[in-house]
Amino acid sequence: MSSPNAESTAFRSALEVIRAVEPRVAGAIAAELADQRESLKLIASENYASPATLLAMGNWFSDKYAEGTVGRRFYAGCQNVDTVEALAAEHARELFGAAHAYVQPHSGIDANLVAFWAVLADRVEAPALRRAQARQVNDLTEADWFALRRELGNQRMLGMSLDAGGHLTHGFRPNISGKMFDQRSYGTDPVTGLIDYDKVAEIAREFKPLILVGGYSAYPRKVNFRILREIADSVGATFMVDMAHFAGLVAGKVFTGDFDPVPHAHIVTTTTHKSLRGPRGGMVLCQPELAEQVDRGCPMVLGGPLPHVMAAKAVALAEARRPDFADYAQRIVANAQALAEGLVRRGARLVTGGTDNHLAIIDVTSYGLTGRQAEQALLDSGIVTNRNSVPQDPNGAWYTSGIRIGTPALTTRGLGTGEMDTIAELIHTVLSRTTAGANPDGTASKAKYALDPAVADKVSRQASELLTGFPLYPNVDLT
Ligand SMILES: *Cc1c(COP(=O)(O)O)cnc(C)c1O
Repeated sequence: MSSPNAESTAFRSALEVIRAVEPRVAGAIAAELADQRESLKLIASENYASPATLLAMGNWFSDKYAEGTVGRRFYAGCQNVDTVEALAAEHARELFGAAHAYVQPHSGIDANLVAFWAVLADRVEAPALRRAQARQVNDLTEADWFALRRELGNQRMLGMSLDAGGHLTHGFRPNISGKMFDQRSYGTDPVTGLIDYDKVAEIAREFKPLILVGGYSAYPRKVNFRILREIADSVGATFMVDMAHFAGLVAGKVFTGDFDPVPHAHIVTTTTHKSLRGPRGGMVLCQPELAEQVDRGCPMVLGGPLPHVMAAKAVALAEARRPDFADYAQRIVANAQALAEGLVRRGARLVTGGTDNHLAIIDVTSYGLTGRQAEQALLDSGIVTNRNSVPQDPNGAWYTSGIRIGTPALTTRGLGTGEMDTIAELIHTVLSRTTAGANPDGTASKAKYALDPAVADKVSRQASELLTGFPLYPNVDLT
């Protein structure tokens, strides 16, 4: 550990230097810390990176171009970038037991694009592609290029449906993946809310996808990756897992055996800033046969890497290899379960009835609300969440019928299962005291709501009192 003083001095000095150039930026940075300290953050995809991780991003690495890979750059003078990229990749391989790690993707979306390209390049039988990869690009005719585009553009992807908790990048229309691929989805069982693996197998047999995608942003249960791999193998699909949300639980060995995607998937993508608690960024892990294609991420999909973020990834991954990270991961799940149980005990309806990971989805139609109304009412009461679809959502993707809550951030702050029960009480109070509003023509509004300001104020006060016992960045004093 660095001395407490060092952290305050570092951030205070940084702000002083920024303030001299554009004081409004320094002000916004300081205000952001103050806001984060005061808000009860239950956003399942957010966390608080360590001071060391944050500081590793603010330096001269930001000035470097480093297209290429370690030891093979298109720019001179990359020896120090090589050091941090190699370190981040080594920590990632060791942490996850992966054969290969590519740490350049700038975000989760970018990591998925890198993975899609790697699988297409590996799997699509287009002679023109082989020649292009063999650097015989100049020999290709217009007809070759036409054939290549047609082959690449006609591939199939099977992923989890959006309303069941899948991600936009798994082949959905608003994302490029939905335009690149012919996509089908698997959902969850309408009664249990769980993935029905027999149904996945049935769709896969019929659809014969090139890529089967596992992973989610809003599914509150473990996923059996061994079974999904068997399904992929049975139809000759490449099995990809996007562990953006739960990478921290894999790193912390909460998800092991059938529930650890790394030994089962051909290729695994992730963000580094969610439960993994690193800098905002992405990463790809893969089996050796895909390594060469994955390393073509830049320049195929990505521009120059972000060496300052790779430095921060190396720091955060080193932190995740320490024994206390496993303890952190266990506490994330214990907290999510305590929060879920507290809500269920008070009468809330949860998708699947509970959780065995870091998140839960409250079906707020049981309170007579849409997700949007519930999200706003909670925000008025000092509780930060996000609205989310529930399976077969009657209110669509904008208003939704759910609230997603997650515990990685509050667990980092040190809150435990006792506090989670208090939070369940606060959430239940707000939702049960909020009523849906009406449109001028008398029909039910999906956005308007009414909540007694006295209730919102009281809950806000209780939420901030709860947080005072758990200071955020306790060693950072900007005053
Ligand atoms: C968050 C998320 C992403 C996207 O990550 P960004 O860094 O925001 O691009 C991709 N896939 C899944 C499953 C996610 O949850």
